[in-house]
Amino acid sequence: MEPVIAVRNLTKTYKKLDAVKGISFEVEEGEIFGFLGPNGAGKSTTINMICTMLQATSGDITINGFDANKQKNRVRESIGIIFQENTLDEKLTANENLMLHCRFYKVPKSKRQARITEVLEIVDLVEKRKDRVETFSGGMKRRLEIARGLLHYPKVLFLDEPTVGLDPQTRAHLWEYILKLKEKEGITMFLTTHYLDEAEISDRVAIMDKGEIIALDNPTALKDQLGGDIIELSTEDNEKALEEIHEKIEGAEVSVKDDTIHLKVASSDAFISSFIKTLNIPITKLNIRKPTLNDVFLAFTGRQIGEPEDE
Ligand code: ADP
Repeated sequence: MEPVIAVRNLTKTYKKLDAVKGISFEVEEGEIFGFLGPNGAGKSTTINMICTMLQATSGDITINGFDANKQKNRVRESIGIIFQENTLDEKLTANENLMLHCRFYKVPKSKRQARITEVLEIVDLVEKRKDRVETFSGGMKRRLEIARGLLHYPKVLFLDEPTVGLDPQTRAHLWEYILKLKEKEGITMFLTTHYLDEAEISDRVAIMDKGEIIALDNPTALKDQLGGDIIELSTEDNEKALEEIHEKIEGAEVSVKDDTIHLKVASSDAFISSFIKTLNIPITKLNIRKPTLNDVFLAFTGRQIGEPEDE
């Protein structure tokens, strides 16, 4: 099967800054492909080039079989885009906003109303179709934008930080809709995020940092690459505890952040009981957990996602 999106050696240079440094990847039909990385990694620049909103400096992009450099209109007709910022007309009703989009995308007149009802049903906003957008909550607006992005039957939906600025409950709710959409409509989704839990929902995740893709796999495989468990502990004297850890565990993988010692071990069960017994410094806090995508990012870059480079 042909990939829905194929990117080859894609670069973007702004004056002297190499924002995207020759990345390559493919997205398969029906998958949720997550683009994870800290601010400034080059995620938006990449998504904008794929959506034909931004001219690439070099490289090839094929999307739905069209060349994004040469067949911009064909690409645009076959994709839906949901941007970070609200692009709805607040003074218009939900229905009016969607009608505008139908005209823009030349949805045949006779089909418009039925199609609008269809997409409003997907995001549970049928009852609100005659209400003005300015009366909507943040989550409702975002759902309406998703509905709008679906009006012209796109094969791929691009979501650039779709839940930024929404509260956790609304974010979770929005994700239910997005997953429903994948299940019911089989739409391929390409999303950028700096939220780790959102990346977890993806079928595959590309981790981007400083214009490069540093890892690409399904979330479980990425975490399994690290293996083992992470032990987080605070003690009455972290400095002394660290010394002891290094003394007792050869090649210990340790880092310290915010008064907490992070220790990576092959398996916590056998290790931890003997370790606690041998540590001479009183432990004030102890937590054992599985690696997260943040640990994967940390392992590849030496930083946490969201932590500035020079810190
Ligand atoms: P992300 O979406 O991962 O936060 P961006 O793609 O927005 O990252 O930005 C990547 C890098 O390119 C950043 O260093 C950013 O400052 C820079 N950048 C983005 N847009 C422009 C622009 N129009 N002109 C100059 N530099 C830009």
